[in-house]
Amino acid sequence: MSTVPAVAPATTAKPPRIFWFFAVIVFVHLLVPLAFTPWTFVWWGVPALIIGNFVFGSLGINLGYHRMLTHSAAKFPKPLERLWVIFGVCSLEGSPLWWVCTHRMHHQHSDDAGDPHSPKDDFYWGHMRWIYTADPRRQSLETYAKYVPDLMGDKFLRWLHRGEKWLFVWLAHVVLLTAAGFGLGFALFDTTNDALMFAAQWFLWVIVVRTVYVWHITWFVNSASHRWGYRNYETNDRSTNNWWVAILTNGEGWHNNHHAAPRACSQGHRWWEVDLTFTFVRALQVVGLAWDVAPVKVPAHLRDRKPPSEGPPPAEGAPPG
Ligand SMILES: [Zn+2]
Ligand SMILES: [Zn+2]
Repeated sequence: MSTVPAVAPATTAKPPRIFWFFAVIVFVHLLVPLAFTPWTFVWWGVPALIIGNFVFGSLGINLGYHRMLTHSAAKFPKPLERLWVIFGVCSLEGSPLWWVCTHRMHHQHSDDAGDPHSPKDDFYWGHMRWIYTADPRRQSLETYAKYVPDLMGDKFLRWLHRGEKWLFVWLAHVVLLTAAGFGLGFALFDTTNDALMFAAQWFLWVIVVRTVYVWHITWFVNSASHRWGYRNYETNDRSTNNWWVAILTNGEGWHNNHHAAPRACSQGHRWWEVDLTFTFVRALQVVGLAWDVAPVKVPAHLRDRKPPSEGPPPAEGAPPG
């Protein structure tokens, strides 16, 4: 997906829409109501969604695309690194190189004219319109050479990016998961009707609802966590710590903390700022499957500035970080 909104809409003359990606987003959204009919709504869909979000959203996007690739916040054995990237690809949020390039531009120009997705002037733009709007910057090799030079040498990442092959990996995961649904259906149920119904429920909850859920919670980090919440640090942007985005995303909603210390693997800086994605990294670290986990290092000029303007009180005598 070589999309790229140049700047926020207030300063742009209507850049063209990436029609195919817009069509995919609309189509997948239109399938969601099918998961809520009397025949397809199932209570096991809820834990399936929570697990699906953890695997594809938290391990794929939060950990793989964001903390590991974009910010080098931790290292893992190569097979695990590849696995996180594949989980990220299966979230249908673009190639890893495109995603990382976009996000590094966001950090460099947060809420400024060069920010690919600031919600400052238009919430919907910052939430999702930017994603299906063309941006010539990210179609140029120079931009990639500037923002992702460390990843351009990775053959696997280049392979995924060139010719949009990441889309075929995503499609393969849809086929595999759908086949697993059919297999389970016929293994668990005696009649063909029951087995097919299970396969349909599985497809809707394990693929469709999860994809839309992970899309929106990722986009809420860009939109809601740049609009609503409290700030631990006076960063040069509008990033906020938003508790409900943090809960939905397993930790990414503590976004003001993240802008203050982008490399830090943990995005929760105070005791109530729970970050399950980081808890998972810590667990891997204990068993030797993660190392070089970047600590929280807030620049001196941002430390001890002021307590949160809303939310729970600060921990007793515990400065952030
Ligand atoms: Zn941000
Ligand atoms: Zn970041």
